[in-house]
Amino acid sequence: MAEKKKPEMSRQTFIKLMGAGAAAVAGTALAPQLAAQTPSSTATAASAKAGPIPTTWDVTADVVVLGAGAVGLAAAIRAAEGGASVLVMDTNYDIGGHAIISGGNVPLGGGTSYQKKYGIEDSAETLFRDLTDWSVVEVSGMPEYRYNDRGVQRALADNEAQTFEFLLAHGVPFVDKAPDNSGGHAVGVSAKREHHTVWTKGQSLESPAGAGGTSLMRALEDSARKAGVKFLLNYHMDAIYREKPDAGRVLGVKAHYTPTILPGTTVPLKSFRSDGNLAMASPTVTVRAKKSIIIGTGGSTGNVNFRRMSDGRLTEEMPLAGDEYSPQDASGELAAMAIGATLWGSANQTMDRNGSLRKRPIIGTRTNYVGWTKDSPLFPKVKASGINIRTWQDAIIVNQMGKRFYNEMEDGYPNGTTEGSIKPYVHGNWRNAQNVKFAPMNYPDAALAMNEGSTAPDFGSGPQWAIFDSEAVKREKWVIDGTTTHPDYFFSAPTLAELAAKIAACPYSKVKMPGANLEATVAEYNKAVEAGVDEAFGKPKPQFKIEAGPFYAAWATITVHDTYVGLRINMKCQVMTLEGEVIPGLYCGGESAAGCSQHGLARCLTQGYIAGAEAAK
Ligand SMILES: Cc1cc2nc3c(=O)[nH]c(=O)nc-3n(C[C@H](O)[C@H](O)[C@H](O)COP(=O)(O)OP(=O)(O)OC[C@H]3O[C@@H](n4cnc5c(N)ncnc54)[C@H](O)[C@@H]3O)c2cc1C
Repeated sequence: MAEKKKPEMSRQTFIKLMGAGAAAVAGTALAPQLAAQTPSSTATAASAKAGPIPTTWDVTADVVVLGAGAVGLAAAIRAAEGGASVLVMDTNYDIGGHAIISGGNVPLGGGTSYQKKYGIEDSAETLFRDLTDWSVVEVSGMPEYRYNDRGVQRALADNEAQTFEFLLAHGVPFVDKAPDNSGGHAVGVSAKREHHTVWTKGQSLESPAGAGGTSLMRALEDSARKAGVKFLLNYHMDAIYREKPDAGRVLGVKAHYTPTILPGTTVPLKSFRSDGNLAMASPTVTVRAKKSIIIGTGGSTGNVNFRRMSDGRLTEEMPLAGDEYSPQDASGELAAMAIGATLWGSANQTMDRNGSLRKRPIIGTRTNYVGWTKDSPLFPKVKASGINIRTWQDAIIVNQMGKRFYNEMEDGYPNGTTEGSIKPYVHGNWRNAQNVKFAPMNYPDAALAMNEGSTAPDFGSGPQWAIFDSEAVKREKWVIDGTTTHPDYFFSAPTLAELAAKIAACPYSKVKMPGANLEATVAEYNKAVEAGVDEAFGKPKPQFKIEAGPFYAAWATITVHDTYVGLRINMKCQVMTLEGEVIPGLYCGGESAAGCSQHGLARCLTQGYIAGAEAAK
């Protein structure tokens, strides 16, 4: 008995710490910036403990889906078509999650109709073998498939092809061409599996990021609405009610209103696509789930304390791809853990895979994954689109101490885990590793591992800055005005010493950059340009001196992408306890679920496909 109670107590303490930790981050000097730029940092301040079970509920549905993203919409359609009444709740002002701002490249394998049509041999068996092949390593050395949960992968392999047909049948416009391996990460080496949705050009209310994700998610939204699914937007699920804290079925959820549009925005709420959505008068609501709850809240990487459990290097200065649209605040995980669920497969969250930490070509704004245009509803929030760097020959990158640390031309992004990347590839053969062209090191790892000048308590690496001169601005044809660069993340000054002093004003600078360091770094780089050889870091034939003022510093900090740790689930996407018992009525998929190292939409849509049908039963 005593032994059984121990983990439960520590789990409660842990949950408290995670929720309070986010609040603590928001309480530091960074608070205004974090609140403005990372909604998820503040979102977990609410408790994940549900409290007494309500005697009356504000809304009731058979199936309550948490999150209107890739998992959520696929699950909602399947549950509705299975005969259930379905309510989808999302904390955002619009549907879609990261999926709607994604590229819409969907790596589904196992023998889809497109694979068959274009003569690509694949099967569930081949896919399963691929996704569990211990012998495959990425160019960074990360063994992508080694730590995958076998059961979870088997379920994916058995359902991916059906999920593709389901998407087609529900109006998702895939480009009718042979699947390729462009954009896929860790989706198996034996066959081409990447299917591409039609790209929606331009950013607008309808299409916040203007990409393939829009056509994917708007099609699913339309299908869901046609199937009778109801949406409750702008409500954040905080806690899940269960019959007893550690026993019985799940009963419903508690949520609070989240006015996700920031004060001062010029975009009126009513212009968003909210027609037909439920409207609630109260800032807090309870929602009864008569049959099941599906967690599709998109992961935990936006919760700085949570992500640092797996990788202590990921301190708050690292932005998260997509966080400016919808959060990944670990709220689904925390709520489930508060009623007995456990995390699982945490080895997958190691960020050494090349897709996880990314250097971006967009600089001069914190949100450097998507370049938000003035037409996007996100623009009033992010305030600057960023500038795109064409070639890193036009800039160097320095750490918070004003020193270079790597070859700027290296981006650490090449992938070693899709079709064609290992030649020859023989399933399960240890020689596969010999056939990978390893990158000498990984740029993001170098950026993160630095601790020069870092200070207590977390000894974070601090931001990275692109440094260039006025000639680079001309060569790159950059327009630098108040809409392309953000005043907190872009500086100019007549001298390098003055530039370093300005960098120190950035809210994420952990130390004051010494001006003498930056001057010495640029002087040394200019000598390398003269010599045509960068002996220090191996940048191939450095071309341009940095010498014509004014000088510039643009935010170039690497971005964190994807969550790979989450809740323990079984092959039906049922959430499980540490002891392997199912929590009746609770399901999870996508980036909030454990067991997968593969990036992106395929696993999320497939798990939505599985969970929705199961939850309606
Ligand atoms: C810019 C970008 C490009 C990408 N491109 C690709 C690509 O081309 N191909 C690919 O395979 N993958 C891509 N991805 C990754 C892919 O989009 C995600 O892996 C996928 O969308 C995750 O699905 P999900 O359902 O788990 O989460 P999401 O799609 O993010 O949905 C989660 C939803 O839950 C909501 N939510 C969170 N917490 C709560 C709460 N407590 N209460 C209520 N609602 C909540 C969020 O607002 C969100 O709407 C991209 C990601 C980004 C950011």
